[in-house]
Amino acid sequence: MARSFTYRHHGGAVEPGTRVEVPFGPRRLVGWVLGTAQGEPDARVRDVLRVLEERPSAGPDLLRLARWIADYYVSSVGLVLRAALPNPMTDAGRNPVKTRRILRLTRELPSLTLREEVFGRAARQRECFEFIEAAGGAVAVQQLGEQGFSYSVLNGLVERGVAVFDDEVVDRDPFADIPAEEGPLPPLTPDQQSTLAPLRTAAGAGGGTFLLRGVTGSGKTRVYIELLREVLHAGRGAIVLVPEIALTPQTVARFRARFGDDVAVLHSALSEGERYDAWRMLRDGERRIAVGARSAIFAPVRDLGAVIVDEEHEGSYKQGEAPRYHAREVAIVRARIAGAVCVLGSATPALESWANVQKGKYTLLELPIRVEGRPLPAVRVVDLRRPKDEGAPAGLPAAPRPADPAAKRPVLSEPLEEAIHARLGRGEQTILLLNRRGYASFVQCRDCGHVWQCGRCNVSLTYHRTRRRLICHYCFHEEAPPSRCTECGSEMLSFRGLGTEQVERIVAETFPAARIARMDVDTTSGKWAHHEILGRVERREVDILLGTQMIAKGLDFPNVTLVGVINADVGMNLPDFRAGERTFQLLTQVAGRAGRGGTAGEVLIQTAMPGSYAIRSALDHDYLGFARRELEERREPEYPPHTRLANVVISGTAEEQVQEAAEGLAAWVRAALREHTLDAVALLGPAPCAIDRIRDRWRWHLLLRSRSARQLGALCRALYRDYGTGTGSIRVIVDRDPVALL
Ligand code: ADP
Ligand code: ZN
Ligand code: ZN
Repeated sequence: MARSFTYRHHGGAVEPGTRVEVPFGPRRLVGWVLGTAQGEPDARVRDVLRVLEERPSAGPDLLRLARWIADYYVSSVGLVLRAALPNPMTDAGRNPVKTRRILRLTRELPSLTLREEVFGRAARQRECFEFIEAAGGAVAVQQLGEQGFSYSVLNGLVERGVAVFDDEVVDRDPFADIPAEEGPLPPLTPDQQSTLAPLRTAAGAGGGTFLLRGVTGSGKTRVYIELLREVLHAGRGAIVLVPEIALTPQTVARFRARFGDDVAVLHSALSEGERYDAWRMLRDGERRIAVGARSAIFAPVRDLGAVIVDEEHEGSYKQGEAPRYHAREVAIVRARIAGAVCVLGSATPALESWANVQKGKYTLLELPIRVEGRPLPAVRVVDLRRPKDEGAPAGLPAAPRPADPAAKRPVLSEPLEEAIHARLGRGEQTILLLNRRGYASFVQCRDCGHVWQCGRCNVSLTYHRTRRRLICHYCFHEEAPPSRCTECGSEMLSFRGLGTEQVERIVAETFPAARIARMDVDTTSGKWAHHEILGRVERREVDILLGTQMIAKGLDFPNVTLVGVINADVGMNLPDFRAGERTFQLLTQVAGRAGRGGTAGEVLIQTAMPGSYAIRSALDHDYLGFARRELEERREPEYPPHTRLANVVISGTAEEQVQEAAEGLAAWVRAALREHTLDAVALLGPAPCAIDRIRDRWRWHLLLRSRSARQLGALCRALYRDYGTGTGSIRVIVDRDPVALL
């Protein structure tokens, strides 16, 4: 859907997809030429001020795709194109390399006498020298400043000829220079062969959509590589989507290694200039494969032959802000426009995709076993409900305070502790999952039950022990942890809701000699922090990798033989119809990290809900069983994939006003349903959102449910036409096919 405007250009026609500068009221804005207006121009038509680019940056295919997105996800073509294309008016074309100033030692001073000779009475200089020496011979100037060494001290070292200033390149792109891999790939397994046959046929015959369901470790990436080879061989290009580059460095590195300079890796750490360069090289055919997250689906790959969506079930493919597109669905449409093959790969396909297989819309391809006949890991449940043997084994951590109910459940059950112990003894690696960060997810008064909440959001504050702060995970508000209850004055506070920081502490206390790495949002704020951690795991410098769902993705570490899930129930009780599906996917994916090398793997899942079918199906590696049951559960009340949803969220700073606006909007919907006889659409709500206040904004929503995508689309577009994105302080968001309803 587009609000489009008509302008006149005197220098002749401008190709559709070209950016121009136009007057818009008193302002000057950037607009896209969408086409030539038909009929007599309106007398009030104004002139294009400037054509901003020589060639259109959006080709005809991309324009078509943008129109489809704007139409389906109710947004404007301009907004879609803005999200899709790099901005040429910033530092495009430039390629700044980030550097930092360092001080590097140029001399060794091996003897004390020598030191005394060189430094004499310049004690500070000598301290600084020794500080740099201890840090490995070079330290950032800024860090030296923070250590209290003044500039004159640093200059003194340079004047004495023992150090020089230098620039060090920082944030080097780890994908930039992976050398192309020579040598043959391992021969395809018979299963891999048989999945490739229909892909080959389709690639030569106008495309098609395929769902590749392959168990973890079945070699899906090998299939993608083979397909890409053939696409390149036919002189065409391809797009490979991964959920998040930082979390899938191995997958990305494999493409990069195999296809070398044919690959452009589009990751979020690229500068604007680097992004523009990559984009230009793809457009000009200098690179033929684009690998990237969500927005790489817009990469201007020429003559597109294949689009691959790896881990297609991942929620991160859905954009959280307008345009709220789902990259998997966009991938299918883009491939169709280009006549390309689209492959959706996963061990645990989204039920939406699975339903499309059953309806015959997608072709199913399967890799039912791991390569080289490796077994899937044996998965066992540890029932957290059963009280464990009284006496905890010697060396078990100081359990959290006994009055804390959580303390009755061990963080590391005996079987899990033993299993880790055995891995440490054999030099094998362990992965521990707990999908909750921080130390404790809430602080509660034991006397009156008061729970500390964010002042701006209706959520509890998480205690982060390393930083000694209570932090809101929604608005990032922080405060000092309390020492007494603000309501009743009691000093009996309990820190509840186990998080990764706490697990790390307990694991470290239980296994003092183990090398532990924690990977969650808090330890991965640096650009390449993920890389650094995963690199250490790969080099076996880590015995136990502990983290949130970040560690469950496509990692392939052959020496990991044990996966432990600290508490499988963390996501189970969220008010979201996908809670069970997410838990099943997460458990299956993380279990799949075990036993990928020669040694068989073992998985231990700690849970207080061992009877839940989401957990039971994960134990049995039973996707089909899970899908059957879950599809049944979603019939009544009806949820996707049996029906489609649009979530309309109304927010504002005044609670009553928001409620009124939501009720007004609901009335509008009811009238529209009658007026346009949209009999296949049902309205649910309005009601407050599950989290009814975020960043000082109150939130209400209404759900539109329909089996008819056409009717739902028509209603959403009409709503967008009448309400736009809201007026005054009231904001209206239309989220089609939402992945989260919180
Ligand atoms: P998935 O993505 O399905 O979990 P991967 O593509 O990561 O699986 O493959 C798992 C492992 O098997 C990788 O180490 C990969 O190199 C190896 N592999 C894949 N295909 C073959 C093959 N045909 N022969 C031998 N090893 C293979
Ligand atoms: Zn209290
Ligand atoms: Zn908050």
